[in-house]
Amino acid sequence: MTENVVASECEGSEAPAERRCRWCRFPLPERTGRGRPREFCSQRCRQWDWVSRQRARELALSDGELVMARTELDALHDDLYVLECAVADTRRDLDHDMTKAELRDALRWLLDAASPLADRKLAAAG
Ligand SMILES: [Zn+2]
Repeated sequence: MTENVVASECEGSEAPAERRCRWCRFPLPERTGRGRPREFCSQRCRQWDWVSRQRARELALSDGELVMARTELDALHDDLYVLECAVADTRRDLDHDMTKAELRDALRWLLDAASPLADRKLAAAG
């Protein structure tokens, strides 16, 4: 049930094709007025995107390739591993009768594991 609630909020039922920042993937505000639609949430993201494309050109990378800092990749793998453990624990817990307090603890563990990924902002490789 929780999965459905979260999924429907993320999908944005009123805006099926929600526009997102090309750099950080943050949802862009509703478009107001005429002119070109926004592609970035901030000047900072526009700058990082430009720098990234310049570096990709220098390294002759294709559109599907990117350079990522090892520390960013390691941190991402760490966060994914914690989330994987939380999902497995929660799935196993839900197979048993749980008290309300145990259910709350399981949900808190899952949220604590998911939050770093939900809050994550990737920086450009410097
Ligand atoms: Zn952005």
